[in-house]
Amino acid sequence: MQILNGLELSKTIKKEIKEEVDVMVQQGHRPPHLVAILVGDDGASMTYVNNKIRSCKECGYESTLIKKTSDTTEEELIWLIKGLNADNTVDGFIVQLPLPDHINPDEVLLAISPEKDVDGFTPHSVGLMTLGLPSYKPATPYGILKMLQRYNIETAGKRCVVVGRSNIVGKPIGIMLGQNKSIGNCTVTILNTHTPNIEKYTKEADILIVAVGRPKMIHGDMVKEGVIVFDVGITRVVDESAKGYHLEGDVDFDSVAPKASYITPVPGGVGPMTVTMLLYNTLLARKKSIRR
Ligand code: NAP
Repeated sequence: MQILNGLELSKTIKKEIKEEVDVMVQQGHRPPHLVAILVGDDGASMTYVNNKIRSCKECGYESTLIKKTSDTTEEELIWLIKGLNADNTVDGFIVQLPLPDHINPDEVLLAISPEKDVDGFTPHSVGLMTLGLPSYKPATPYGILKMLQRYNIETAGKRCVVVGRSNIVGKPIGIMLGQNKSIGNCTVTILNTHTPNIEKYTKEADILIVAVGRPKMIHGDMVKEGVIVFDVGITRVVDESAKGYHLEGDVDFDSVAPKASYITPVPGGVGPMTVTMLLYNTLLARKKSIRR
């Protein structure tokens, strides 16, 4: 069994990004600039956004965190987004999800200019990605593709089972791994809450991707020997440590790892790669703006 060490791989990729940024700056260009918008005071969202801002600094990016109170209206948020769309000093921006209930996330996504959609969540980006055309790929699935590529894992002909069909993880990773690409050509099945006997499918998986948000829902008796496992789930479980919580994945690592050929840990697997691929998309956006 080999651990897919997302933390180490993300350090390597961030170093490569920093080298590119250094060259960019030496050539007289400004570095990439990522803006993150955070609405409200959700603890987990704040942690994720702070990680993104810290990673920007590590890579030599400019970054701006815009914090808005939870009573911000949809109109105010869209006004802010339109300003960022028009701001030539900003290469890409993200609106941290989830948003407060009174804001419709679909309306917010529709307001983001595709050119600055470094999260790859807008209908334009999703459409391009689905057609297999160059696009900003959503960061979490992109991180999984990168891990498969950098660990030299063959995907063609493999049976891939994805548990969860969210627009940001389950659906796009299923689409990407089913495409006729060098990391792709899998036969993909995507499961949801209506799927009866999910173990019937998980047991057939050569590659199992779990993005649900239910701690330890996948046990060793639900997978086959040699399976490659990506555990996307992150749930804060309350405990008595100084932090008051610890993170748990959707996979019961102790019973699944002995049967797996490769497996991502939680934390330190998919999570760090997500942040890194967001930076990668922002670098692409900056390169495009330099060429324009
Ligand atoms: P989500 O929007 O929370 O949706 C969960 C999905 O799981 C839904 O499609 C749901 O099906 C499905 N599901 C729930 N219970 C199921 C069951 N018993 N059997 C089969 N499918 C089931 O998904 P998400 O946003 O992708 O988040 C999932 C988890 O990944 C969360 O823990 C989140 O924190 C984590 N996450 C981690 C990263 C990272 O960087 N590591 C990034 C994004 C998300 P229905 O559609 O039928 O309701």
